[in-house]
Amino acid sequence: MYGVEIWGDENFVIDNETVKVNHLSAPTLLEITQKIRSGGIRGPLLLRFPHLIQKQIDSLYSNFHRAIAENHYQGSFHAVFPLKVNQFPNVIDNIIAYGTPYGYGLEAGSKAELILAMCQTPIGSPITVNGFKDTEMITMGFIAAQMGHNITLIIEGINELESIIEVQSTCKLATPSIGIRLRLHSSGSGTWAKSGGMRSKFGLTTTEILEAMQLLKTNNLLENFTMIHFHIGSQMEEISPLKKALREAGNIYAELKMMGAEKLTNINIGGGLAVEYSQSKKERKNYSLNEFANDVIFSLREIMNSKGVKHPNVYTESGRFIVASHATLITPVLELFSHDYQEHSLRFKEKNPPLIDELRDLNRLLNAKNCIEFMHDALDHQESLLTLFDLGYIDLEDRSNSEILVHLIIKKSLYLMASNPTNESIRLEERFVEHFLINGSIFQSLPDYWGLHQKFPVMPLHKLHIKPIRAANLWDITCDSDGEITFDSKAPLYLHDIDLDNEEYFLAFFNVGAYQETLGMHHNLFDKPTECSVIVTENGYRLEKLHESPHIIEILESIQYNTRSMIETLKNNLQKSDFSDAKEKSDTLLKLEHYLHQNGYLRTTK
Ligand SMILES: *Cc1c(COP(=O)(O)O)cnc(C)c1O
Repeated sequence: MYGVEIWGDENFVIDNETVKVNHLSAPTLLEITQKIRSGGIRGPLLLRFPHLIQKQIDSLYSNFHRAIAENHYQGSFHAVFPLKVNQFPNVIDNIIAYGTPYGYGLEAGSKAELILAMCQTPIGSPITVNGFKDTEMITMGFIAAQMGHNITLIIEGINELESIIEVQSTCKLATPSIGIRLRLHSSGSGTWAKSGGMRSKFGLTTTEILEAMQLLKTNNLLENFTMIHFHIGSQMEEISPLKKALREAGNIYAELKMMGAEKLTNINIGGGLAVEYSQSKKERKNYSLNEFANDVIFSLREIMNSKGVKHPNVYTESGRFIVASHATLITPVLELFSHDYQEHSLRFKEKNPPLIDELRDLNRLLNAKNCIEFMHDALDHQESLLTLFDLGYIDLEDRSNSEILVHLIIKKSLYLMASNPTNESIRLEERFVEHFLINGSIFQSLPDYWGLHQKFPVMPLHKLHIKPIRAANLWDITCDSDGEITFDSKAPLYLHDIDLDNEEYFLAFFNVGAYQETLGMHHNLFDKPTECSVIVTENGYRLEKLHESPHIIEILESIQYNTRSMIETLKNNLQKSDFSDAKEKSDTLLKLEHYLHQNGYLRTTK
């Protein structure tokens, strides 16, 4: 079942032979894929499901609202979506549409993101600004406040507060709210834990916080100081570091209130809610959103009650949790690499070396009873035959026959042993693993796999009623040996033995909606995949906002080539070349132009 019950969150269901979107009319991913391809589009597809963005926003708010009610908590709950997780309009438009009834806002970490937030956030919904800021960026914050935006500039250092003071004294614009990022003692756990802790890149130490308080007071800005903030890192795998961070931040909050920060009413707990990427139970994160919300609300209530401080409003900036599930990457399989090892490729001679004849017999007589013994014999013979080749006793045809026969014997034996695997069969499976070539780029579409070995759930779109028996690794079409996703016996990927001459086979990668898109690289000039929003309805589904992967000509333009002069060069070279007739020359020219206006992924395999 490819672990769909672990990572799928009931968003997808396997129904007999295929995987379906578990919503309303429940279309299959295969029919959606074929519909898009029927328009002639080839290469990888990124499918967006807006209903899954809505689901996550609803669940974030409902869990916190419930925790607040159950704990008789006096503060309110607010959230912003951190733009760095996914800035694309097809995502942000949905975030705003579904989030506005809740007052959901945006978080910005750069000038470009801040401009985006100022245009997209409804007036009144919160904007928070993190990251390093120069005077221009701080001025933008004042302009946003002047427009009526509910904006908080969260300072990462004393120098940013000094810039705020300077901008305020030199312009007549409204002053934004000010937040302070805390450099906490506690840090998160997992791959991205570096964002928290004393050695983190971000935030003010206790001494700096006291200094900031002093500066705020002497410059009459205490009025604007409304929020403290921390972020212990993305993809928090455990809840305990968050609890520690909450105790630390909660106590700092209470202390600052007692020091006279009267307008301070908000604690922003950053992001970090984890997404389940695992296809096997072992790596599961150890908490639910329900527990997370309870812990946040309960911890803050206890600290404030014991210090006699009013309960603060809670802000979150979770991004991965909100958008990871909404996007699925579909890649066609182009090739299976051991498919040369077929019975019909054998080239026997009148007289073959005796070891080859023996391999033939092993292959012919193999059955469930003798397969272990025959497999050992075959491996043994292969060693001998390779030695004979090195010494010049057998020729290239013999060597090819031995490769094919050994491969067939091992493959059949492993199949026969599949229900009763031994340590050895597992090891052999890894050695004789099939490589599936996918029409896509890991660098472009799954950069976190390349950079951090973050795995994403992957499965075929159909044939799910047939037990897959090929242990697989995946190769992408970049000319880079890092363009490979490997699996091992601890977390294997089994795929089907398919004949691509006669049928199509697609693999889907799930939970790819967070971070992957703008982190993606143009290695080998493979650009964004074709993307499309899938609106599932009661009776079917609609495809909206289809953007084909950039055409070759556009890709070259995007890296500053003058494509007009490139086309001239190509045309001139063709004009000057020898053609038997003029028509052939003009046809060739047309063909070339046609190729330039196709996307950069592969279209055919033969
Ligand atoms: C990246 C970031 C987030 C989002 O983190 P997720 O793990 O995606 O929830 C939130 N706040 C800040 C300050 C960030 O830098």
